[in-house]
Order: sequence, then C-alpha cells, then structure tokens
Amino acid sequence: MCKKYTTNTNMGKLIKAITKENNARLYCVDTKDIVGEAKKIHETSLTATAAFGRMLTAAVLMGADLKNERDLITLKLDVDGLVRKIIVTANKNGDVKGDIYNPVAEVPLNTKGKLDVAGIVGKGTITVIKDIGMKHPYSGISPIVSGEIGEDLSYYFYHSEQIPSVVGLGVLVNNNEVISSGGFLIQLLPGAKDEFIDKLEAKVNKIGSITDLFNEMSVLDVLKYVMKDVEEFEILDEMDTVYRCNCDKDRFYRGIITLGREEIDNLFKNEDNIEVSCNFCKKKYSFIKHDFNSL
Ligand SMILES: [Zn+2]
Repeated sequence: MCKKYTTNTNMGKLIKAITKENNARLYCVDTKDIVGEAKKIHETSLTATAAFGRMLTAAVLMGADLKNERDLITLKLDVDGLVRKIIVTANKNGDVKGDIYNPVAEVPLNTKGKLDVAGIVGKGTITVIKDIGMKHPYSGISPIVSGEIGEDLSYYFYHSEQIPSVVGLGVLVNNNEVISSGGFLIQLLPGAKDEFIDKLEAKVNKIGSITDLFNEMSVLDVLKYVMKDVEEFEILDEMDTVYRCNCDKDRFYRGIITLGREEIDNLFKNEDNIEVSCNFCKKKYSFIKHDFNSL
C-alpha cells in the first residue's frame, strides 16, 4: 500500500470516473480535512462526528453529479435517536457545509468496538433535495433502514431514484481527532451487465473497513482497490473539496427584514444591538437598530 499523500489544509480530493465498459459511474472522496473542520466548528462528540462526517461525505459525493454552478444538493436526517437532525448541503464544486442538532450525541461503542452511528441515529427518515434551478426542487424521502447512513442512502437510491448504488462511508475518530474519513459512490448505468454486477457485489462484500482504506491509501488508490477485479475505469474529473459556508451579513439582514417592523422593534426593545450566528459556520453578525431605520 502506498503512502497517503497530503492535500492543502482543509481540502479533500474527489475523483469522478466511469468504468471502461460504461457499467457504472464512480465517485470517491477523501474528507478527513472537511470532517476535521466540521468537528472544530460544531464541537461534535466522537460518535456525532462520525454520523455528521458520513453525511458530509455523502453530500460531497452526490454534489459531484450536479451540472450547474448554482445547483445544490441537500441531505436531511430526521430521526428519533439522540442526534435528532443533521442537515448537509453541497454544490458541484465540492463546497460542503452542515448543521447538527445535537453535536454532543454520544453512546457507548457498539459490539464490534466501533463508534455506534446507528445508535445515535435510531429510526426516522433521510430526505434528499436537489435544487437544480427548477421552480420546485426535486425532493425524495426514504426511511432509515440501518442508521449507518451509507446503507440508508443505497436504499434511497434504489427505491426513490431507481438507481442501484453502492454507498461506502467511513469516519475514524481517535483521541478526539479525525484520523481518516472518506467515501465512495458506485452507481450502475442503464444497461449495466449482470457479470459486472456480480463481480461488484462480490467485491463490495470483501472490502472491510472503509476508514482503514482511507487511512492507508490516497483517494485514487482507494478507488483502484475498490474496483480491482471488477472493471477498470477512466478518470473524468478530479477536484478539491472543502468545508465552506457562503453566508454574509446581507443574507442575514434580508432574513431579519422578513420578520416585519413590529417584530424587529421587539428585538431591539431591550437591546441596542442584536447578534445572529450562522448555523453552518458559527460566524456571528451583529446589527444595530439604525440598520433597520429605512424600512
Ligand atoms: Zn455561515
């Protein structure tokens, strides 16, 4: 196994590829730095980091399929487990951000001695929203079947989009630090041959720990490893991905205006200035009453 190469700070690397005989589209991403950044911003516990990290990784993988600059993919987890809600959003350029309702959700390790993601997820739904510039964004909802997120998304793809897919996601956290994180998405193309599907299934069952792969190999080597003995592939695109929030003061200003005069006056009743904080990056913006005088 070759030595893992390092990318720029906070950047992950994403590869888009297609198999040589057009049986499947492939996406593979290293999200160690993205998840590390998310952990720092949201101060997530170990198991919450794993759940949040898998969601962020999935969003980056699915965002890679978007076509236009302004297109967005959003994944929402609504569950009865301790974590309650996770929302993540990504674009085609590999920018991803997220919010987690209960960042300190924690349960003991599972029987395999691993972080028990399913234990803090529980039951509920996962929703996929694709905003691709249409009047109404496309939205699909699917039940949580395992709570491990990867399997839940495979189920979603098969039942909601009728695209047989393999989703592999993994986040390893140790000593409160993200050691490795990444994932891959393999989506069958129309007309995929049975022989290919059989080989893929056999391989997927042998893969083992995804976090070990990303800990030991570069993202390209992970993809090569996953597709070895299945089919060769051709790289279509390689890009950097990053945890990035696009919020600015004006966006919050416009949000406050929608509250209406009366509500705004109420906000400033006992305060000279108010502070709002972005759910995705925790950046704070402050406003004074004068900011709203022209309304
Ligand atoms: Zn922000």
